[in-house]
Amino acid sequence: MKTAVYPGSFDPFTNGHLDIVERSIRVVDSLTIAVLKNTSKKSLFSPEERVEIIQEVLKDYPQVKVQTFEGLLVDFCRAHNTRIVIRGLRAVSDFDYEHAIFLMNRKLLPDLETMFLMAGSDNSFISSTIVKEVAYFGGNIADQVPAIVLERMKKVISKHV
Ligand code: ADP
Repeated sequence: MKTAVYPGSFDPFTNGHLDIVERSIRVVDSLTIAVLKNTSKKSLFSPEERVEIIQEVLKDYPQVKVQTFEGLLVDFCRAHNTRIVIRGLRAVSDFDYEHAIFLMNRKLLPDLETMFLMAGSDNSFISSTIVKEVAYFGGNIADQVPAIVLERMKKVISKHV
């Protein structure tokens, strides 16, 4: 059985992330979405809220699990007995960062393989950061996030504006 991990911040989970998940599960049998508990980035949703939201978005995909993680991705992969990491690539601007992480992870765990899926043209401009900014100032992001995410974002943002 082929298992893979799709790590990221997912703050919030966008249609770009959803596309990567849907395409990944055509290639692997089971996928764990690993929501990073990052301390440096200021977040819209807590890691636990992100897990709950993503689980709801993906409730029709029993082969997808969602959980938080902290520490090294390679340790998470070891603990879950998986050697495939999925990452998405939107543009050349993603490349340097993804390449550096790929090389470091390979050094730490040589039999780890990273699979990069290129964003389709509809999703290549979608980023969690931009979606948050636009939503905060009242812009329409309905095409860029799943409906469940949109609802949750509206609730959180209305409390802060
Ligand atoms: P991170 O903080 O790890 O970059 P993100 O949640 O921003 O976390 O992204 C997680 C992964 O999903 C990364 O590999 C990123 O390149 C990819 N990704 C983000 N947005 C998109 C998108 N619109 N289309 C395809 N891949 C994406």
